[in-house]
Amino acid sequence: MRLTVIGCGDAFGSGGRFQTCFMIEGSTRKILLDCGASTPVALKLRNVDFNTIDGIVLSHLHGDHFGALPFLLLESQFHLQRTRPLTVVGPPGTRERVTAAMEVFFPRSSKNVWRFPFEVGEITPGIPDEVLGFSIKTAEVIHHSGAPSTAVRLTEGGKTLAYSGDTEWTDALLPVADGADLFIMECYDYSRSMPGHTSFATLKDKRASLKPKLIMVTHMNPTMLARQDEARAAGFIVAEDGLVLEI
Ligand SMILES: [Zn+2]
Repeated sequence: MRLTVIGCGDAFGSGGRFQTCFMIEGSTRKILLDCGASTPVALKLRNVDFNTIDGIVLSHLHGDHFGALPFLLLESQFHLQRTRPLTVVGPPGTRERVTAAMEVFFPRSSKNVWRFPFEVGEITPGIPDEVLGFSIKTAEVIHHSGAPSTAVRLTEGGKTLAYSGDTEWTDALLPVADGADLFIMECYDYSRSMPGHTSFATLKDKRASLKPKLIMVTHMNPTMLARQDEARAAGFIVAEDGLVLEI
């Protein structure tokens, strides 16, 4: 399994980083884990042809995690001449929210007859599922997004990548991260406790309870970006746009 960080920024592009999007290449399929609004630009910057992407897995339904969908769908329809099927999965409520986003940005676009097979699925937290050859299990976390926000655990080819999504600290993350080859953990602020997000101070405090092989911190605001070296010195991988990791 290979991870490419397409975007690891927060909602506001702090530090000039693109909004969240992780590209995961399994043995046969390639997917995006989250797809923030800036993703179409970030994919082109990394020379990733969206026609090579088989599916998109969404942790939660905030614009910095799923906002690129209307743009990528229309680009696929009208410019990329896409024929490869596209599967999008996310938490309960994904179908309705994707349709709503399309109608807000491009009225009537949700009524398109897509030129490629297009399917939106919803993953029930706690229930194991299978998407494009990846075993997937999600857990509900604490982050208000008008639908369940989830952490995501993906396994393929004997490797497991886990991802917190956006959340304040919750013990629901423990089984998600347990034994994973890589756990991508949101680390929004350096020290402040904020609703819906985890600080570096809290992460350090809880670290011993997390049992993945490696932890990568992501989704950092300016206070945390300024202290990245501290995270590196403490043994965390620090996400950067363009980083590639063989898992
Ligand atoms: Zn976010």
